[in-house]
Amino acid sequence: MIHREEIQHILDGYDREHITVATIGSHTALQILKGARDEGFKNLVICKKGTEEVYRQFGLADELLTVENFKQVLGKSFQEQLIERNAVLIPHGSFVEYLSPVRIENELFVPMFGNRAVLDWESDRKKEREWLERAELRLPVEFKDPADIDRLVMVKFPGAKGGRGYILASNPDEFEQKHKKLNLSDKDEFTIQEYVIGTRFYPHYFYSPLTDRLELLSMDIRYESNIDGISRLSYILRDRHPEPSFVVTGNLPVVVRESLLPRILEMGQKVIETSQELFSPGLIGPFCIETICTEDLEFIVFEISARIVAGTNLYINGSPYSQLLYDEPMSTGRRISREIKAALKEDSLDKVVY
Ligand code: AMP
Repeated sequence: MIHREEIQHILDGYDREHITVATIGSHTALQILKGARDEGFKNLVICKKGTEEVYRQFGLADELLTVENFKQVLGKSFQEQLIERNAVLIPHGSFVEYLSPVRIENELFVPMFGNRAVLDWESDRKKEREWLERAELRLPVEFKDPADIDRLVMVKFPGAKGGRGYILASNPDEFEQKHKKLNLSDKDEFTIQEYVIGTRFYPHYFYSPLTDRLELLSMDIRYESNIDGISRLSYILRDRHPEPSFVVTGNLPVVVRESLLPRILEMGQKVIETSQELFSPGLIGPFCIETICTEDLEFIVFEISARIVAGTNLYINGSPYSQLLYDEPMSTGRRISREIKAALKEDSLDKVVY
């Protein structure tokens, strides 16, 4: 893991009057670029060859760098180009997936918004669970041994990207049958998790270390194929439906009933406090807790994304929540640049960048 001091050293060489907000062209890049521009920063997008047109079309990028493969970003000369431009990289879901958490931690010297120590805690399922349990969040029951399955469970395989290839089973036999079909090796690890029935909510938070304030900026529900398609035909399909998959295809805007907001804020606060104990200075900036609200109005948390999530794309012009906090359109992308601006103003960029 690259030490904080090494990044700070690079940051010391930056011209603070000419910071460039940079990101990879995918996921939430458009709102990050717009947010940077709205806050008065120069911005830059790194595009995979063939995708440049999207970023040209919207006219939001001051500079566009093209790569054949995103891994090129980790190359020495590419990183030097970014550092010359005083770039602060904004990580997002695709950014982390394309570059890989381990390679970001060990090879990416360009200063990044947030605390890169979090990558380790969110990418390792055991560590993630330890973090969330310590935050006293309720998590789905886990079954160590398939023989113990006594209710509907979801089996998650690490290689099953974006909810594709997860299986559902109601008992040990069904698990064995479906597991066999997957032809996995003995080494393939998986998690067996209680399938929680309820309403999914994905609240988008932002934590500012400068003001020690947690903000609820927005919230979404992920639209997933083919589980959401199957539910429309469930009466006709009955038990002839295909194995559900949970591949995200879009996002729907949502608000929760107001009486649930205290718990949503409390969960976010707990996540921040425990992150500060586990990997000081803890989580910085945007994050999302992936929850299911049961009929008892209890939130069960099945995952955390410790960075900007794609559901925030719904709110480039602000959300019902961000409108209460800010008298101007405040997307999560813009909120990130607002934090960088505030940090520069009080000469504490090192508090929000690692
Ligand atoms: P994940 O890869 O953990 O983000 O899960 C992908 C999708 O599967 C989620 O967006 C949910 O729709 C669904 N899901 C994950 N875990 C559970 C669970 N324990 N109970 C019910 N649905 C779940």
